Amino acid sequence: MQDILEGFIRDVTPEMVEFRRELHAHPELAFKEHETAKRIRARLAKVPGLKVLPPLIETDVVAILNADRPGRCIALRADIDALPIEEETGVPYQSTARGVMHACGHDGHTATLLGTVMVLARMADELPGKVKFIFQPAEEVGGGGGVLCERGVLDSPKVDAAVAMHGWPFEPVGSIAIRSGWVMAASNPFTITVQGLGSHGAYPHRGIDPIVASAHIITALQTIVARTVDPQDAAVVTIGQISAGVAENVIPPRATMSGTMRYTRTDLGGQLRERLCRIVEHTAQAHGATAKVDIEDGYPPMYNDEKLSDLVEKIGREVLGDANVVTKVPVSMGVEDFAYYAQKVPATMFRLGVRPPDRDSYPALHNPQFNFNDDALPIGIRMFGEVTQRFLRGE
Ligand SMILES: [Zn+2]
Ligand SMILES: [Zn+2]
Repeated sequence: MQDILEGFIRDVTPEMVEFRRELHAHPELAFKEHETAKRIRARLAKVPGLKVLPPLIETDVVAILNADRPGRCIALRADIDALPIEEETGVPYQSTARGVMHACGHDGHTATLLGTVMVLARMADELPGKVKFIFQPAEEVGGGGGVLCERGVLDSPKVDAAVAMHGWPFEPVGSIAIRSGWVMAASNPFTITVQGLGSHGAYPHRGIDPIVASAHIITALQTIVARTVDPQDAAVVTIGQISAGVAENVIPPRATMSGTMRYTRTDLGGQLRERLCRIVEHTAQAHGATAKVDIEDGYPPMYNDEKLSDLVEKIGREVLGDANVVTKVPVSMGVEDFAYYAQKVPATMFRLGVRPPDRDSYPALHNPQFNFNDDALPIGIRMFGEVTQRFLRGE
């Protein structure tokens, strides 16, 4: 069986390399992936036995293999959006869209999933269940995964497990990294407005200085993680932006700040929110100012299901060798909207090495020089293909 899969993968890889480069040259931002979706649909139309669904939001593409077959249903998901970054790779198929590039490798995720469709479609008769392929828009911003889940992407047929992967520049091609449990953070972006009283810079006693109050607030916020979160838990509070004032001799009436809170355990979210609000409001008050905090719901934390992650690890060891399966994966304080799927069904996301093995380092994700490595495509397809077969057979 494995050799058959291997042969099919060899057949489709050249086309997937070409497709990946086509996507790379034509990146599109979150929720604007119209041409990308068209390109995916055009390729899927040539695959026999596939049921391609109308979009749930404009730019998603969902296809089902063996739609009417009884048995389990596995969902494989790829994100398809790009980033507002000016590309600096210098490759011949560099982005043709100014200021937009596939700097997170979602072109590679999309090509890997399409290659998996083509390979599994050829062996559809031997699969004892259904496969749902989800090409998802807006991972980078906007939580396209959350929107799709809300609109029922995991229903009819009901999905029993969901698997995704992310290209990973810190590991070499030919390897994967996988771990169960909390693996990525939740985020809550927030803004703080400190209202003081404007005054002449020479007469501070006639006003209420929102800049001094903000400075105290920023300092006090550092105690949330340092003094109130269990040191065994991961959390971050970052102020990334601050603005106030127009001239050196004017005390402005207000100051605004924005930042992000990150944490890996869902129940930490409420605790962090409560402490943030308390510190901001009371510190402002201590300076005679008032403050308003707006906290948004960001992505939830990503939880990798134990059983599914064990299956991915086991298959990785068999297919790639023990030395090429990394299980000491540190928790990332980055976020990932695949977490929305994991809230609904057992799910796991593994990392796929994309660093050329002869290099010590590789540009990081979201770096203008990052480029998904085509050599990783057949390995991604292999992993998706194997996991699908084995899960559908009951493992
Ligand atoms: Zn990204
Ligand atoms: Zn990404």
